[in-house]
Amino acid sequence: MSAKPQSASPGRVGFISLGCPKATVDSEHILTQLRAEGYLISPDYAGADLVVVNTCGFIDAAVEESLDTIGEALNENGKVIVTGCLGAKGDIVRHAYPNVLAVTGPHATKEVMDAVHEHLPPQHDPFVDLLPPQGIRLTPKHYAYLKISEGCNHRCTFCIIPSMRGDLVSRPVSDVLLEAERLAAAGVKELLVISQDTSAYGVDVKYKTEFYNGRPVKTRMTELCEALSALGIWVRLHYVYPYPHVDEVIPLMIAGKILPYLDIPFQHANPRILKAMKRPASSENTLSRIQQWRQDCPELAIRSTFIVGFPGETEDEFQELLDFLDAAQLDRVGAFTYSPVEGASANKLADPVDPELQQERLARFMAKQAKISAQCLQNKIGSVQQVLIDDIDDEGIVARSTADAPDIDGMVFVSDAEDMTADMPQVGDIIQVRITHSDEHDMWATRINENS
Ligand code: SF4
Repeated sequence: MSAKPQSASPGRVGFISLGCPKATVDSEHILTQLRAEGYLISPDYAGADLVVVNTCGFIDAAVEESLDTIGEALNENGKVIVTGCLGAKGDIVRHAYPNVLAVTGPHATKEVMDAVHEHLPPQHDPFVDLLPPQGIRLTPKHYAYLKISEGCNHRCTFCIIPSMRGDLVSRPVSDVLLEAERLAAAGVKELLVISQDTSAYGVDVKYKTEFYNGRPVKTRMTELCEALSALGIWVRLHYVYPYPHVDEVIPLMIAGKILPYLDIPFQHANPRILKAMKRPASSENTLSRIQQWRQDCPELAIRSTFIVGFPGETEDEFQELLDFLDAAQLDRVGAFTYSPVEGASANKLADPVDPELQQERLARFMAKQAKISAQCLQNKIGSVQQVLIDDIDDEGIVARSTADAPDIDGMVFVSDAEDMTADMPQVGDIIQVRITHSDEHDMWATRINENS
């Protein structure tokens, strides 16, 4: 397909962002840079001078989706720059599509911009004043992902992220705090702290002390949380591993400084499987830690993910995982059957679990967790909760409680919004509600009029 003629007006770049929240943040950085340099973002292929596709390469389905998307962009536009995790996986992209303009790996804003400059030279001086101070965000205005580091020092056997993104590189704490402050000033009400391993923040720089607004701040998870809490907005921690120093953030939750929420990808409970997975902190006594956290902070919600049917998983080891669910009573759980990812060392492990047996175990796992999640939510009936409004439609308010992260957890449906038109809240407001009923995923509530 022929290339689009280059216009004399500012270059127009189409942008497609696939993958996880970390890829979303990469996309936001590239979009921010594009706008900073005066490029316009085209909402469709036809209006774009070229298209950037930020890919995901984590599992085979994601690779397929990424390749399909690149093919579509080439068909519809003809000039395509590929970035992201799939770009780091050898020659897959070049092999499938030799005519793409450039291929880079993840978090490669500079390389992507170099490719854009080569194929669509900037027509104007940078329009820095066109750029909102918080940069370009792909999330709704009232919440934002805050990426604190890149890469990972662990080598979990099922994961290829370290080979794609490299070892841990923590962002300077002053940069993170400046970004957070700008986001809060732009109306963001909830920051979702993300990384590959949030608890490892600062390890690579030996927890270096920096200065922010004249105050010393260590490049360390607890100190970062303490500093973020000064913004007075919700702060939610994702991808935390249960190292001993995670205990330090529980007092911040008790004091209402950060949300009582921990997203900890446990992946399994059996020590032999965890060892075969090479999971971080797998030797910690997770169950007693959870019990202690809950005792200290009863509002704490814990989300986790698990892999069932890992190579060599026996029925007894799987049963141990089910027993762990019973004992841990986790609020939110996602689960996947193990599937080999090209390049992962777990592919070489003996005794793969038969796919039918994997599915059967997944169904048993999910059935057990559904009951636990339903019970956790049922326990909240009658309680008063603070919820953040995500949407308001004809049927009422769609919100999330402190226990619900966007996209992955449940919702709170507040049904009587129309009775309160005099005092109608807005998307992004935090309101008080009383929980009236629940199922295994969501809750329903009535709004409490704070003036009454
Ligand atoms: S902690 Fe393990 S699963 Fe997570 S990114 Fe690092 S290597 Fe991958």
